[in-house]
Amino acid sequence: MRAQEWGNTVAWKRAREERLLKNPVCEQCAKEPSTLVAHIRSFITPEGVASRELFFDPAYYRALCRSCHSRLTTTYDGGFGNQRKSGKEMHVQPTGATGKQFSSGSIGASKLDEALGTPEDLADLLKDIPE
Ligand SMILES: [Zn+2]
Repeated sequence: MRAQEWGNTVAWKRAREERLLKNPVCEQCAKEPSTLVAHIRSFITPEGVASRELFFDPAYYRALCRSCHSRLTTTYDGGFGNQRKSGKEMHVQPTGATGKQFSSGSIGASKLDEALGTPEDLADLLKDIPE
C-alpha cells in the first residue's frame, strides 16, 4: 500500500476521530475548535522511505483548526514555489502523555505566531500527506 493510501484506511480514520475526540480544541493555538488532523512531522525516513509506523505515530500528527493548518501548510509546505523548510515540528507543541494538551499559558499565541513566520515566509511537506 502506498503512503498516500494510509490516509484512507479504517485505521487512520479511527486514529483521526480519536485524536479529535481527545483534542476538541486545536493543539496549536488552543483556542479554535480542532476540525482536522494533519501530520506535522515528515513520516519519511532519512532513507526516503515512507514509514507506516511513523505515519500512525500520534507524535507525528496533531488535531488542528483550519487556520493553524493552513498557516503551517503555507509556511512550511512550499506554496508559491518556495523551498520546503525543515523544522515545522519545532513550532508545534510536543505531545506528552496520550491526549495531553499543552496549556495556553505555557506559550503565548503571539509567540507561536512569531515562530510560525509570515505568509511571505513561505515554503512543501503536507501537500502530499493526507489529512
Ligand atoms: Zn489553531
